[in-house]
Amino acid sequence: MITYQNWITPDISFDSDSETKGALEVLEWAYSTYGDEILYSCSFGVEGSVLIDLISKVNPFAQVVFLDTGLHFQETYDVINSVKEAYPNLTIILKKPLLTLEEQEVQYGKALWKSSPNLCCQLRKIEPLQESLAHVTAWISGLRREQSPTRRHVQYINRDEKFKKVKICPLIHWTWKDVWRYVHKHQLPYHALHDRGYPSIGCHPCTQPAFDENDLRSGRWAGQAKLECGLHEDTRGTLS
Ligand code: SF4
Repeated sequence: MITYQNWITPDISFDSDSETKGALEVLEWAYSTYGDEILYSCSFGVEGSVLIDLISKVNPFAQVVFLDTGLHFQETYDVINSVKEAYPNLTIILKKPLLTLEEQEVQYGKALWKSSPNLCCQLRKIEPLQESLAHVTAWISGLRREQSPTRRHVQYINRDEKFKKVKICPLIHWTWKDVWRYVHKHQLPYHALHDRGYPSIGCHPCTQPAFDENDLRSGRWAGQAKLECGLHEDTRGTLS
């Protein structure tokens, strides 16, 4: 079995011309390889709607974790509840940070997302994910290459240097149109803010409608140099 510690270049080929552009084959491989030692970290944006549906076809009892920073839009919790109703066998865990928002304010000052967004993401996203991944070998992410320059080189199977795990990204070849075609065709529940100008959705203090139609993530940390929350750095892939 391929692990972070026992890394070998996988001798597997996925058919990127298939209906799901390889995503279903990647997931079948992932769940048959890792069994219970894999989880999906879902932010419940539209890519999450697609992946939840595909994962449930492969493993209806899969584990899903949502990093519940305490700073999400109400619409995010609404779509989580819709997904729970539509896929009752999935285990969806809302993982909270060690510090409440009040404790964070006492320790680090008001609105840490303004004064030090990297530290805020570290405390409210990265450390909780690290804890969630402690007992698995691999995790799944909905990254697509088209999303941003920082994601252009993501592969199906990646050696994740950040969390020392195997990171599996089934949607790398999907376009924004592919995602929406799938969602509408299968009438999947999706985040209501997508219909209000938000192609990419995270915590409310760091998310606004996209202002650049060529950059779907332009509403995230707008006006700052920050492009990612830090969950997806240092990834080296092996399969395209
Ligand atoms: S996205 Fe913003 S509010 Fe959310 S954890 Fe990161 S800095 Fe904090």
